[in-house]
Amino acid sequence: MNQEYLNTPIEFLKGVGPQRADQLKQEAGIYTFGDLLEFFPFRYIDRSRFYKIREINADMPYVQIRGFISDIELHGHRRTTRMTATLRDETGSMELVWFRGFKWLKNSFKKEVEYIVFGKPALFGRSYNIAHPEVEPVTPGAINQESAMQPVYNSSEKLRARGLDSKGIGRLLKTLLPQAKAHIRETLPEEVLKPLRLPGRKEALTNIHFPSDSKTLRKATARLKFEELFYIQLNLLRHKQIRLEKSGGHIFEKIGENFNGFYHQGLSFELTGAQKRVLKEIRQDTLSGRQMNRLLQGDVGSGKTVVAVMSMLMALDNGFQACLMAPTEILAFQHFESVSNMLKNQGINVGLLTGSTKTAQRKELLKALKEGELKILIGTHALIEDVVQFERLGMVVVDEQHRFGVAQRARLWSKGKTPPHVLVMTATPIPRTLAMTFYGDLDVSIIDELPPGRKPIKTVHQYDANRLRVFGFMRDQIKLGRQVYVVYPLINESEKLDLKDLTDGYESIVREFPLPDYAVSIVHGKMKHAEKDYEMQRFVEGKTHIMVATTVIEVGIDVPNASVMVIESAERFGLSQLHQLRGRVGRGADQSYCILMSKTELSNDARKRLQTMVRTNDGFEIAEMDLQLRGPGDIQGTQQSGILDLKIADLAKDEPILKYARQQAMEILSKDPSLSQPSNKVILHRLKELYHDKLFWSRIS
Ligand code: ADP
Ligand code: MG
Repeated sequence: MNQEYLNTPIEFLKGVGPQRADQLKQEAGIYTFGDLLEFFPFRYIDRSRFYKIREINADMPYVQIRGFISDIELHGHRRTTRMTATLRDETGSMELVWFRGFKWLKNSFKKEVEYIVFGKPALFGRSYNIAHPEVEPVTPGAINQESAMQPVYNSSEKLRARGLDSKGIGRLLKTLLPQAKAHIRETLPEEVLKPLRLPGRKEALTNIHFPSDSKTLRKATARLKFEELFYIQLNLLRHKQIRLEKSGGHIFEKIGENFNGFYHQGLSFELTGAQKRVLKEIRQDTLSGRQMNRLLQGDVGSGKTVVAVMSMLMALDNGFQACLMAPTEILAFQHFESVSNMLKNQGINVGLLTGSTKTAQRKELLKALKEGELKILIGTHALIEDVVQFERLGMVVVDEQHRFGVAQRARLWSKGKTPPHVLVMTATPIPRTLAMTFYGDLDVSIIDELPPGRKPIKTVHQYDANRLRVFGFMRDQIKLGRQVYVVYPLINESEKLDLKDLTDGYESIVREFPLPDYAVSIVHGKMKHAEKDYEMQRFVEGKTHIMVATTVIEVGIDVPNASVMVIESAERFGLSQLHQLRGRVGRGADQSYCILMSKTELSNDARKRLQTMVRTNDGFEIAEMDLQLRGPGDIQGTQQSGILDLKIADLAKDEPILKYARQQAMEILSKDPSLSQPSNKVILHRLKELYHDKLFWSRIS
């Protein structure tokens, strides 16, 4: 019943007419009373704190200063007039500016009176000013009149046009909260709240909007963050629970001649401990009678491909087919070549299916697949088209998962009556908090060990002015028989300019490294497919010394002889991209180098990115830093997933809360899988409210 109240359309709130309601819906996603209650401030203005003028800097949002006002002056004529005044405290002085309302203002300030001035400081020339400050005389009442922490809400141009700036939204909440209070139901059981000393939902929702002080705000924030993360985790975990309970999995009983033959004869090296451990985990999953859904994280070059191949061989040994899906044609092709090569002595047929597979070939391939003759198929997302029918698909390996949507993953699973086992591999280590949220329903394996003998890549940062030295270094390496990548950024906004950078760069490199002593390849996205392949092939075969390219090579080719990666305008790349690019070298036995070129003037974040790259080769450390610098919304591949549209929690900052929330959710589900105990009634109720998927509820009850 109380939910009904919170579902009341927003236009029924006093102060919201049809027009305001439209804007609230369109601009802020606020449809109901409940939505407004959960429209949280994105920050607060602390009116309990007074700043000294000397402390002011341009990064400060809003500040409150106590001081005396003098030197009121009018400048300019008519339309360009403005009024200025000087605000002084014992540490210094700054300017206040007004562009209207002079008459009224001019006579309202008294020299001997101390004022409270409130506003947003801006740098003006070499000093600070505040435009249109709020000004009031210091009186005992003025200091404590308002609640100390004032909420600031996200607004928009259209909302502001309807009087709904931050303050306007605050006023709506002031109207709504008192009348809604009686209808706010608790959504977490006492057993969860008590040990953490978290406030109830009613109290939290009140204090998140109108906190009396920073302590109540902290508690309210913690409660609401916990709640948000708790329900996401609970939902993921119960999905996993259902999958394990209800959907059976193929049982791979034997390890047979395919696997053993490869292990004893096909492998030219000893598996690392981490590779063996992961294979054991996969073996156990495929024996369990339940569908495997495993995420395999391992840095570039950690040897995931072998693990993928051996997992597919487990399927083959038990009479099943297997497939491997890659995000790009280049990568699919490379996998096809290396897997065919690995398996060539075992007489196992491997097929390749991509968007550019010719019709006749495609027909043949699909037929062989359906009849079960073709055992291993490698390709792009062409693999999940409906026409692709396997006779008995037992194992799906997805490489570079973050580029595929979750929907695509689900589609693959549903092929065949019993779903195939799924191994998702990613070379972009994902920060823990994102993995827990984005892939919270998967089991996770990590290859945290590189094959032996690898030398860590040496990374340096060089300014553009040192280019000649870099050229000299490249020459030395080429003399030693090595090959070099030079990569240019290609960022869509200014594709033309980027392409010009690339071709200019190519020309200057050709000048520095002329024929016949040197040969230079160039590859970029605007080239024809065949041209690109030709150039790549020449580099792979060692016929060219330098490969000038855009990021098309990011997930592309494997050239063990390449030992130098020069990244131009490195300040324009994101951290994970830099790390991916660096992973193109260091694949052979030689010492490899990564040279990050940049201009001299760098933003703070850019400098931190480059420093991080120089400091560490550890992909997980880099991923964590990426998350800190960019925030979760920008991490590759996660943008489209609604899962990260969090209302209040922040995956860059709230790892401890997330861990705790996940652990609590696990505990509750393990003690009471169907959430039928009386104490869990509130949880069940809230889950239904949040995720109305009928499938789950029909299965569980
Ligand atoms: P990634 O995890 O980036 O996909 P790959 O599977 O491509 O890594 O492996 C990188 C290189 O390391 C390949 O040339 C592969 O043959 C080699 N490799 C993989 N595992 C081992 C190992 N245990 N010992 C030595 N070399 C290995
Ligand atoms: Mg790989």
